[in-house]
Amino acid sequence: MENNKSFGWSQGALIALLGLGGCLTLGLTLPVMPNLKSTQTINIKELSLKPMTSERIEGLKSSIVTSWHKEATLKGLSEVPERFRGVTIAEANLAPSEKVIALTFDDGPWPQSTPAVLEILKKNNIKATFFIVGQMLKEHPDMGKRIVAEGHVIANHTWHHWYHYMNPQAAAFEIDNTSNLIYQVTGVRTSLFRPPGGIKTNGPYAYAKNQKYATIMWSADSVDYSRPGVPRLISNIMREAKPGGIVLMHDGGGNRSNTVAALPQVIDIFRKKGYRFVTVPELLEMQDKQLQVASKK
Ligand SMILES: [Zn+2]
Repeated sequence: MENNKSFGWSQGALIALLGLGGCLTLGLTLPVMPNLKSTQTINIKELSLKPMTSERIEGLKSSIVTSWHKEATLKGLSEVPERFRGVTIAEANLAPSEKVIALTFDDGPWPQSTPAVLEILKKNNIKATFFIVGQMLKEHPDMGKRIVAEGHVIANHTWHHWYHYMNPQAAAFEIDNTSNLIYQVTGVRTSLFRPPGGIKTNGPYAYAKNQKYATIMWSADSVDYSRPGVPRLISNIMREAKPGGIVLMHDGGGNRSNTVAALPQVIDIFRKKGYRFVTVPELLEMQDKQLQVASKK
């Protein structure tokens, strides 16, 4: 469970907000077209001249999947294969040779930690998945733009990060306004959702499922929201890590200095164990391909 102190809006505020819903929705759906980056291209000539080390092959594989993902989102297509729409996933079951792991960061954008996380990911040439909180993205749209411009995946973690029960109208507000703002700010139409606290019984999860979002849980919890020391935070992740897994960390929601401090070591340990890093859509794509192959056998 996550600490939601930072998102402590009262129930009264919710009711007031619902009254304002119409105005807010209108305000949020103003057509602001973002500057879209052109899709990544792979230079075939350059590839043929350089020796294909395993690292380069991994790089090529991941750039192909990233290009596919970027192209799909630019065309307004879902980044989620059809079989996973409306489905809940905590990990992929891949062939043992596919030693991949997906790092995910929740509750941002957060000025004190999101830029630091992005710097570490850039330095290590890793793409991750960010489940953002709508009201935080509204405050820090530049960070949302940066997440996408640097090749990461941006996804829906509700508007307020509430844990209490929400009726269908409130749940729709939480999810629709967040996805609309993600689109206005970044040009990405997300169909990935993660419920705050992993809670499936308070409204947003049911709404997201109904709207055919893929709900993305996790298989390795850093428990960083409890602010363990760096060694403990790392061992929390490594204890539960396995190929095809999804790691839960937080770049927002409170003081995440320990997460930022642990991240380079987490990356090093995974690399030494032979893992490569994928985004959640890449993980789903790999799972989809494997299931396609299995069904043909
Ligand atoms: Zn959260």
